[in-house]
Amino acid sequence: MYPKNFQNLIDHFNGLPGIGPKLAERLVLSLYKSDTQKAEDFATALQGLHNVHNCPKCFNITESDLCTICTNTARDTSLLCALEDPLDILPIERSRNYNGLYHVLGGTVDGKKGDHLKITQLESRLQTSNINEVIIATNFTTEGDMTALFLKQRLSEMCAENNIKLTRIVRGLATGSDIEYADDLTLISALTNRTEML
Ligand SMILES: [Zn+2]
Repeated sequence: MYPKNFQNLIDHFNGLPGIGPKLAERLVLSLYKSDTQKAEDFATALQGLHNVHNCPKCFNITESDLCTICTNTARDTSLLCALEDPLDILPIERSRNYNGLYHVLGGTVDGKKGDHLKITQLESRLQTSNINEVIIATNFTTEGDMTALFLKQRLSEMCAENNIKLTRIVRGLATGSDIEYADDLTLISALTNRTEML
């Protein structure tokens, strides 16, 4: 049995993505052995997460009212890229091949249900702003493909009525791959060669 506070921290680490019980123990032991300042800085950094929230417009993560992409007047507001989660934005930004806006869906469809996704908010953005194209950039996994199809079914009528193109990034990314881990060239190719969803 570990001391209560030691075990408590292990329990918090355990179950985080990629972290099992053994790694959780090693991480806590490492924090315990590090100097006090380092452990305190870690605690402060963790508390700092309180200041992070979702941008009310695109659901990216931000510490301001709106995120830095939504407030950037140099962005192309006629383009909107819909993706699964905020971690997918950074690789696309790094590839420097896209200057439009984003919409974070907040996951993938669950079976045939998408009520937990920010689709209603996406629809209202499409109705109230001058967007010419929606690029669906969900991951090339079964769930990502199902979500792309779901979006197409939900949005195609509205897109046709408002003259909005609905496209999907191409499978330059290997099947089963996540945007989050794609390299710049693959992402540039996937975005540049996007195809219309008919
Ligand atoms: Zn935003």
